Amino acid sequence: MGPAGDGPERRGSAVIVGASLSGLMTALALSRAGVDVTMLERVDSFPRTGASLGSVHEGLLERITGRKRSDQDATAYGPSSAPVQTWTAVHRRLRAAVDADPHIELRHSTFVESVGHDTHAAWATTADGEVFRGDVLIGADGHRSVVRRSVSPDKPDATFAGYVLWIGLTDESAIPSRHRWPLDMDILSNRGSYLFGYPLPGRDGAAVPGTRQLGWGWFDASRNELLRTTGCVVGDVVHHSLASADIPETTLRQLAAEAGELWPALWRDAIFDCVDRHAVIGTPIAEYVPDRLVNGRLALVGDAAHVPTPMTGSGFGASLDDAEAIAASIAAGVRGSEVAQGLRTYENKRLGVVQAMVRSGQQFSRAFAGQAA
Ligand SMILES: Cc1cc2nc3c(=O)[nH]c(=O)nc-3n(C[C@H](O)[C@H](O)[C@H](O)COP(=O)(O)OP(=O)(O)OC[C@H]3O[C@@H](n4cnc5c(N)ncnc54)[C@H](O)[C@@H]3O)c2cc1C
Repeated sequence: MGPAGDGPERRGSAVIVGASLSGLMTALALSRAGVDVTMLERVDSFPRTGASLGSVHEGLLERITGRKRSDQDATAYGPSSAPVQTWTAVHRRLRAAVDADPHIELRHSTFVESVGHDTHAAWATTADGEVFRGDVLIGADGHRSVVRRSVSPDKPDATFAGYVLWIGLTDESAIPSRHRWPLDMDILSNRGSYLFGYPLPGRDGAAVPGTRQLGWGWFDASRNELLRTTGCVVGDVVHHSLASADIPETTLRQLAAEAGELWPALWRDAIFDCVDRHAVIGTPIAEYVPDRLVNGRLALVGDAAHVPTPMTGSGFGASLDDAEAIAASIAAGVRGSEVAQGLRTYENKRLGVVQAMVRSGQQFSRAFAGQAA
């Protein structure tokens, strides 16, 4: 792909709902295919969490952004060889590429309430009553997608997988210096529990010893009642994460006690630090196997299209493949009747692959959630 701005003649327009990772990647891929993009994002800014992504190597980021890494990027985004990148660093990098693209407009604080389409156009209506029209509309609006309701009205919701992922992020300075710094992701299992621990660059993106960070994610199927009483899970649908302020002190103390029994010293200390600072987030895990990805001029990408358990480690890669596949499928044009054929090509290419991806994770989920039932 060439740099944004010097691509092919403009071939039409797309509205994308959601400007997180898959929305940004889809916007960049569409723009390069000659499609002008308007992105609608409900939030104003994205919080810094412990979330991270494995296997996001430099070549991949250059492919997505169409930009070679500069010295400035190295300072801003950290080492290209990091085995795991923070979600925030990947988002910043994609966002910079979107901001530099004259064919992409990004609107924040824009909550899309509904979407529609007919034979000529597709549109999104916001909570303020504004209507944004395009030749196609793409839902990149995550696991609780509004767009999915119009693409797959008979199967609109991702379902609760039966467990929570506790995640945390610790500064190296909070960890006793006797511990050896890990070079790669640690995947640990003990007495039916699972923990991911991973080294990360520092807050400024640089991997300078003394300023780095440790991230961890701990799968827990034993506290589903708490997820229900706090409204995080209603019926079998995940509504939201459990913010650190809403995790009861007793639960935090229990987690620390269990960590003391289950995990090696480095990860135990990282968890103790997060518990002491009340800096733990509980993410109830959802899953979604799609029956369809498109309807007329509407299409889904990323977690709106398919939600695998993070145990698969494949959500980000699948979102990138969606972005590239949809851009390639509609590159011939989106203005006329050929758009429906283009979107069907996208669905034919991706549906079987993403169904298999989510189902492979469900085997883990059923066994893991089942053992606690
Ligand atoms: C805890 C956790 C750990 C993970 N770890 C990994 C990993 O290690 N490796 C990996 O590959 N993947 C991982 N994933 C998955 C990966 O993060 C996602 O698949 C990937 O980031 C794509 O997400 P997305 O952009 O499709 O959705 P989201 O990140 O959910 O973004 C959706 C966006 O849409 C916006 N939005 C939603 N509704 C509306 C609306 N009505 N109007 C306007 N805007 C709206 C939201 O504000 C948000 O910005 C993990 C996921 C979780 C939850």
